[in-house]
Amino acid sequence: MVDFSRARDRMIASQLSRRGINDPDVLDAMRNVPREAFVDPGFEEFAYEDSALAIGHGQTISQPYIVALMIERAGPEPGDIVLEIGTGSGYAAAVLSRIAGHVYTIERHPGLAKAARNRFADLGYDNIDVRIGDGTAGWPEAGPFDAILVAAGGPNAPHALKEQLDLGGRLIIPVGSAEEQRLMRITRVNATTFEEQDLGGVRFVPLVSEQGRAADQQGAKGRPRAMPLSELIAAAAEPLPDFDDPAFGRLFDRFADRRLVLLGEASHGTSEFYRARAAITRRLIEAHGFTIVAVEADWPDAAAVDRYVRQRQAAGPRTAFERFPTWMWRNREVVEFVEWLRAYNQQKAEADRAGFHGLDIYNMRGSIAAVLDYLDRTDPEAAAVARERYGCLTPWQNEPSTYGRAALSKGFRDCEQAVVSQCRELLEQQLRAGLAAGDELMDAAQNARLVASAERYYRIMYYAGPESWNMRDTHMFETLEHLLTARGPRAKAVVWAHNSHIGDARYTDMGMARDEVNIGQLCRERFPGETALIGFGTHGGKVAAATDWGGDMEVKPIRASLEGSYERLCHDSQVRHFLLEFSRDPALRQRLLEPKLERFIGVIYRPETERLSHYAYASLPRQFDAFVWFDETAPVTPLGADHIGEGVPETFPFGL
Ligand code: SAH
Repeated sequence: MVDFSRARDRMIASQLSRRGINDPDVLDAMRNVPREAFVDPGFEEFAYEDSALAIGHGQTISQPYIVALMIERAGPEPGDIVLEIGTGSGYAAAVLSRIAGHVYTIERHPGLAKAARNRFADLGYDNIDVRIGDGTAGWPEAGPFDAILVAAGGPNAPHALKEQLDLGGRLIIPVGSAEEQRLMRITRVNATTFEEQDLGGVRFVPLVSEQGRAADQQGAKGRPRAMPLSELIAAAAEPLPDFDDPAFGRLFDRFADRRLVLLGEASHGTSEFYRARAAITRRLIEAHGFTIVAVEADWPDAAAVDRYVRQRQAAGPRTAFERFPTWMWRNREVVEFVEWLRAYNQQKAEADRAGFHGLDIYNMRGSIAAVLDYLDRTDPEAAAVARERYGCLTPWQNEPSTYGRAALSKGFRDCEQAVVSQCRELLEQQLRAGLAAGDELMDAAQNARLVASAERYYRIMYYAGPESWNMRDTHMFETLEHLLTARGPRAKAVVWAHNSHIGDARYTDMGMARDEVNIGQLCRERFPGETALIGFGTHGGKVAAATDWGGDMEVKPIRASLEGSYERLCHDSQVRHFLLEFSRDPALRQRLLEPKLERFIGVIYRPETERLSHYAYASLPRQFDAFVWFDETAPVTPLGADHIGEGVPETFPFGL
């Protein structure tokens, strides 16, 4: 269940205050009105997203920021009489009614107008009148108005509305064509003089009136036509060879001089993304001296694979990736790569073998077991102390997501100190041992570090702010740094993680609206000029994903990419699969810079609410150095009881 009051506070802080809305009356009113009561049933959890939402009849409830901006610029005061055109959900009128004396609002869709009326009644907002009709004529009997707000865009400001402004009254209205609208403030100085001020570019649904339609058609005539972006993409796209063709890997040689090559994915269950990353990684290892493959998987699980591919002795847990979502790593595509890596390493001296490592922190139980296992073998006394220390986490290790709540109520400071001490001790031991420390101690120390991170992660996850995301990505980045340090000053790493971890967060909603950082950003900041960030995308096909966290894997059709998204532009290029390196075509890069929708499918995919659950705004060419495109994609083939008979090798550590 979403905590709406907290969501509202976060909206005020991240979407409004930080964008410069600071009128206390506006912020108070926005804090007061329950926006979740103005969205369609079932969409409440998205009510505080930084976007407009559909409300039926092809109309939308405006983005919170736009509502706040319009009201702040209209400057209503207590006692003022205000007119709003385009009631829609009624949200903006409701916010206005918490500041002004009386609000009149007009909506042309009877269904929307009636629903808004009911909402006002339910909330006890009794200073709002709703009329059904064409708002471009205004509401002369109720005027003159201190402020008029128009929530739909037309070619110009209707004369009738200007005439209904009181002296000093303000009309806030989006003016322009369907493609380009400016938000204007028109202030009535005296009976015949109006002052205009441009408040910036916006996008509203059309203001529908006879006058509006006619002028719109005029506007469409005679505009010069720039070359469509999809054609520019087609011209710059470098088609991809087959995965097994050595030319595939060679295409990425241009990034081989970097120390860090980060390869993304637009879902956790798409075969092409795994196969492409495997082909690129094989090339970087074979031809360019990369020795670290670091993936978005749990450390102890990946460590089992590492022991297999580097032919080190098996210790600790024997099977890997048994925690949800198993298909993310227990799949045929990964097995194929792991088998290749093992075979490659076989011909190499131990020091030159490439390792396979996990950056993530979810498998706290696995890490606790690995630390205890190491200490049991090397220092039984220390093992007893560690058992005691980890005791406070034991009740939660299977269901750590419930730990945060417990930690809140019981004052778990002791637990925090215990796991941190354990971590410090092993790290000190590792430092003392220096280069002689060897892989086993490094592994144990890393696991202890992970338990400490995980304890903190699950504790702060309860607050659901940006901190838990940031701490997870910072942990992943630091683990990557430790791996590089451990392999020496010239070590080079390939990273496999989701686009959301790899695409520089500063140029996505994550960083812009929520203060979230990610591995891609941290790598660019810490290793400037030595990092390549490569994103992946798809238009359609099928994907392996679950409906809920912890749910079973399903194969789901991917919806065609949305109009206006980066994906749709790539699809419209009609090149089926390609590499697009942004620096190769500065003019194209320039035109792609302005943020557009981008799709993010994780282990969960909910096609029914796709726009809200899976799309976010980002600036693709700033997020990534290059983008790899597969127009139609297939799901990964999971390994499991059902798949044993299908010729998968009996691969330790997948424990078939
Ligand atoms: N203020 C609303 C935004 C609604 S979108 C909110 O906060 O939710 C704009 C609305 O304007 C739509 O519901 C649309 O039906 C309405 N609209 C468009 N042209 C109109 C007109 N000429 N007269 C009245 N309403 C109009």
